[in-house]
Amino acid sequence: MFERLQNSLVSLFSPQECKVCGRHVENLGDGVACSACWSETRIFDGSETLCSKCGAFFRDSRGSGEFRCHACDDHAYDKAAAAGVYEKALAATIIKLKSDPHIPARAAIAFSQAFEDSTFRSTTLILPIPLSSRRLIERGYNQADLLGDDLARRTGIRIDKLSLRRKVHTPLHRVAMDMKARELTVKNAFVVERPKLIAGQNILLVDDVFTSGSTSSNCAKVLKKNGAAEVNVLTLARAISN
Ligand SMILES: [Zn+2]
Ligand SMILES: [Zn+2]
Repeated sequence: MFERLQNSLVSLFSPQECKVCGRHVENLGDGVACSACWSETRIFDGSETLCSKCGAFFRDSRGSGEFRCHACDDHAYDKAAAAGVYEKALAATIIKLKSDPHIPARAAIAFSQAFEDSTFRSTTLILPIPLSSRRLIERGYNQADLLGDDLARRTGIRIDKLSLRRKVHTPLHRVAMDMKARELTVKNAFVVERPKLIAGQNILLVDDVFTSGSTSSNCAKVLKKNGAAEVNVLTLARAISN
């Protein structure tokens, strides 16, 4: 008993080790990464070249004209944006978010800043991308709900965690599947439970990370089929291949 109390006191008062570099994390608001690692993490500020539809990262500097990656041409959402690149501090924060339902201030601020900088300010409804009910029971919470709740609180926009449901359970090992197989798995995985609440809305789907975009696209497809006016996507991070 005493030992357990002592351990929890030590973890409370001793600085946490950065999950990226191992140095001490000095600011509580930085979460699991130190401020040096946060500075090395690319948080988008408008100076990058990104795909004008899906937000795919192209390069750190901005060229003239519009850039399209074309991999997203068939995707059903209107636009997708992210706070930054899935690397260093953002990657460590997202991994931690799967076991600890708390968004560090630095990540929450980057997420709401990404919303402010986006073209999504006419959003009327925030929808976190749902987990399957089995995954929700395993984990106890949906990390996308945490991001959605924080954004709803900061912006005053309504959040709806019930109208969109994931009916197919995707086993964890499928994360390693190739893109085509993933697309097949998420196809038809989503269903709209309350179409009246979706019709005519400018919807913002929120999630922790945007990878191939097939999950977002399938959500958008079913939402548009049920009358959504606009469906955009905002994630904390964007996975990049280069
Ligand atoms: Zn660090
Ligand atoms: Zn694109």
